[in-house]
Amino acid sequence: MTRTVYVNGAYLPEDQATVSIFDRGFLMADAVYEVTSVLGGKLIDFAGHCARLARSLGELDMASPCSEGELLAIHRELVARNDVTDGMIYLQVTRGNPGDRDFAFPDASVKPTLVMFTQSKPGLADSPMAKTGMKVISIDDIRWGRRDIKTVQLLYPSMGKMMAKKAGADDAWLVEDGFVTEGTSNNAYIVKGGRIITRNLGHEILHGITRAAVLRFAREAQMEVEERAFTVDEAKAADEAFISSASAFVMPVVEIDGTAVGTGAPGPVAARLREIYLDEMRKAAI
Ligand code: PLP
Repeated sequence: MTRTVYVNGAYLPEDQATVSIFDRGFLMADAVYEVTSVLGGKLIDFAGHCARLARSLGELDMASPCSEGELLAIHRELVARNDVTDGMIYLQVTRGNPGDRDFAFPDASVKPTLVMFTQSKPGLADSPMAKTGMKVISIDDIRWGRRDIKTVQLLYPSMGKMMAKKAGADDAWLVEDGFVTEGTSNNAYIVKGGRIITRNLGHEILHGITRAAVLRFAREAQMEVEERAFTVDEAKAADEAFISSASAFVMPVVEIDGTAVGTGAPGPVAARLREIYLDEMRKAAI
């Protein structure tokens, strides 16, 4: 089946969808994005992703391509047309095509570009990694200073994934001034003495939509949560570690730089949070 994608108002077969070479997303990485998971044909935390998209656009003084209602309709149409049961929907908004290359932002007559496509991942919530856990390495965080804006500047995170792969690991945790900021495409957590510790919000990390939900569920379940920076050494000495993201949900981390975390197997807190997160989000899916 040929995938149907969305570009600026049109639903097209993926091999017929095009964006200009002058588009600022292409030339300048002047673009923001969101990834929303689909489980059982329904959208997970759509409202959260919409709210963050609006914030990213606002922080960059970029126009919104359409209303939240229209975005929801496009998401649903793509799920239906591509027959997605489990998977993700990728959305990208760029500052559009001014017709030439120039560092200055174009005037308001240039409309933003909106591109969306589906990625079908049957059994997304049954990843074998949830049972085995993942291995991470630590690397320097040399990204720009506004990681709270979800831009498409993903070169360093991609390089980080390649460094991890080369080292025989699954992902990298980024470290700045001695403290872990986050994973290349996820938020990072440790558990010590029953307390869940994760980096506090700021410009240093992406404000994960999954992170917000996981911390809410943890607090509702009377678990103790501490939002503060932690070091790699603290993580290595933790009882458990895990990550969260819209597509991985909650995933245990069992090794950091070759050192086993806790027992070296996925821990009970991560397993419980994954279960609660998936249960609650499936119930609330739209
Ligand atoms: N941190 C970074 C750098 C990310 O790229 C992502 C997701 O892509 C996350 C955290 C997790 O955010 P969310 O839970 O909204 O997917």
